[in-house]
Amino acid sequence: MSLIVTGTIGIDNVETPTGSAEGILGGSCAYFAAAASCYTSTRIVAAVGDDWPADHRSMLESFPGIDLAGLETRAGSKTFRWGGKYLENMNDRETLFTDLGVLEEAPPAIPDAFQDSEIVFLANTHPGVQRGFLKSLPNRKFTVADTMDLWINIARDDLVGLLGEIDGIVINDSEALLLTEHRNPFTAAKAIMEMGPKVVIIKKGEHGAVLVTPEGVAVIPAYPADETMVVDPTGCGDSFAGGFMGYIASRGSWEFSDLQAAMAWGTVSASFTLGAFALEGLQGLTMEGLEERMAKYQAAARVGDVNSIV
Ligand code: AMP
Repeated sequence: MSLIVTGTIGIDNVETPTGSAEGILGGSCAYFAAAASCYTSTRIVAAVGDDWPADHRSMLESFPGIDLAGLETRAGSKTFRWGGKYLENMNDRETLFTDLGVLEEAPPAIPDAFQDSEIVFLANTHPGVQRGFLKSLPNRKFTVADTMDLWINIARDDLVGLLGEIDGIVINDSEALLLTEHRNPFTAAKAIMEMGPKVVIIKKGEHGAVLVTPEGVAVIPAYPADETMVVDPTGCGDSFAGGFMGYIASRGSWEFSDLQAAMAWGTVSASFTLGAFALEGLQGLTMEGLEERMAKYQAAARVGDVNSIV
């Protein structure tokens, strides 16, 4: 089924305890699409300013599965910019600055050829823009959104309105706490379900993720990555969502068992993002590369025979 995403294309500055990079390609939409495009063709709708570097476009173009027909370059506008700094544990991070730029203008238009899209992902951006996007997609069948602390703090009403209009949400544990005031991920997920979405995924960084739906609950560990494998965690949440939604779109089904499998594919996709700055960890990745890493992940995540214990 056709997959479409809107969100940010950003110019990022990232500092980690072991390195830093300035002016690199980032943004929720970029990481999502790069990861999802390994599974299925992925349509991007986003806007950048005329300060957007040509090599960032080349990087996105190097992903054959990304359809850039909905990427607008606006004369006289500034690209979204974000700076982040990771703490020693490489899990927690501080936002150093957010320059909304083009995000403060009218949202990008959806090309006519994209209006038949069925699987929709609303990557991080203003929830008002996320809501507007849905209105132009009459054929949508399964819609999932992401959000983050900035939007929970400055646009809560729009966000609560959005939650009533979507099927699922992918959110991290600190954002779920901010939104619901519940620290326990299962309690927080139930509170979010009461606001609308029936599929709630709460990500816990290096501690994995949980899925809560009316059909059941699933827990999934993170990919076992040692320190040498972690270069820059930026975009892991978006790449997790990319693998998750890419798999769902390729299956054309979102039964509980599909959602569970999609969580594993999302985890494996995100493990490639960890290993390099910007989209480099995902560049050149094929289904064979994903399957090879999935085999290692499954071996590590397998729960043995517990009959002798319980
Ligand atoms: P993640 O690490 O998955 O949370 O994604 C980080 C990416 O999201 C970076 O490349 C940023 O450019 C982008 N980003 C940061 N803050 C925001 C925001 N408030 N809205 C949308 N995108 C953002």
